[in-house]
Amino acid sequence: MTQVFHSIEPLAQLLYEHISKGEDVAFVPTMGALHEGHALLMEEAKKHQPIVVASIFVNPTQFNDKKDLEKYPRTLEKDVVICNGAGLDYLYVPEVFEIYPPSLNTELNLDLEGLDKVMEGAFRPGHFDGVCQVVKRLLDLVRPTHLYMGQKDFQQFTIIDFMIKKLDIPVKLVVIPTSRQKSGLARSSRNARLSTKGRQKAATIYRTLKSIEEKKHELPVPELESYGMKRLKKAGFEPEYVTISDGTTLQPLKVLEPGQYAVVCVAAWLEGVRLIDNLVL
Ligand code: AMP
Repeated sequence: MTQVFHSIEPLAQLLYEHISKGEDVAFVPTMGALHEGHALLMEEAKKHQPIVVASIFVNPTQFNDKKDLEKYPRTLEKDVVICNGAGLDYLYVPEVFEIYPPSLNTELNLDLEGLDKVMEGAFRPGHFDGVCQVVKRLLDLVRPTHLYMGQKDFQQFTIIDFMIKKLDIPVKLVVIPTSRQKSGLARSSRNARLSTKGRQKAATIYRTLKSIEEKKHELPVPELESYGMKRLKKAGFEPEYVTISDGTTLQPLKVLEPGQYAVVCVAAWLEGVRLIDNLVL
């Protein structure tokens, strides 16, 4: 049974005992409204580490759009059932004041060296400052040996990897491939806000990514991107970007070199819901 904690002290005590015994502790930070993608992260972590702790915290500092924050689904009871099913040991559900005590300056002011200026960063200014701030704070509180994140948020894990190295944080990042529905739609907490028809249509995002992958040797990069934008618009989306970037620097590419680590990332609105996805090319 997953043990649920709303404050860090008793949890930190237990985790300290595990670490003292030489047991590694994996950590899976989430914003709740858990789905099979989150369960997969927890199960993967549990396969490889003896102790797994997840957190549910809808982090206010990473939402530049207040309405998006208010509308973010909150389903704690159902989430605990999913955590149990995934074999999670501990679930940390903190209050805002524990993560951001008024007496503590938790702002990092980290220079992300341009990683935060493209794609999600360009459309959601300040988003990655908030993401780094909350992940650093959670790592300080939980002190895990391993951090598990999903490839679903490509730019996010790339930036967290950069932060871990830059701040020399003693944690090992493990990235798990995106969990998808049969249709190809990437599992996301936001999918719950789509209609049944919308969810079917949303699978066009993955189909578009796959077509771009298939055409990557036929068309130049700008044409691949504009093909993606056009296809999504035609299907009724309002796409923000379809961008092909270097997988490490996240800088947009003009040309795809053979063997290059490149990724195509998409953000598009459907039925008032903002969806993101990506595919390594
Ligand atoms: P979130 O609750 O959306 O902030 O996500 C928490 C963690 O779960 C992040 O590391 C995400 O990348 C990961 N995640 C979300 N959706 C998926 C998915 N479909 N497949 C794999 N990982 C996911």
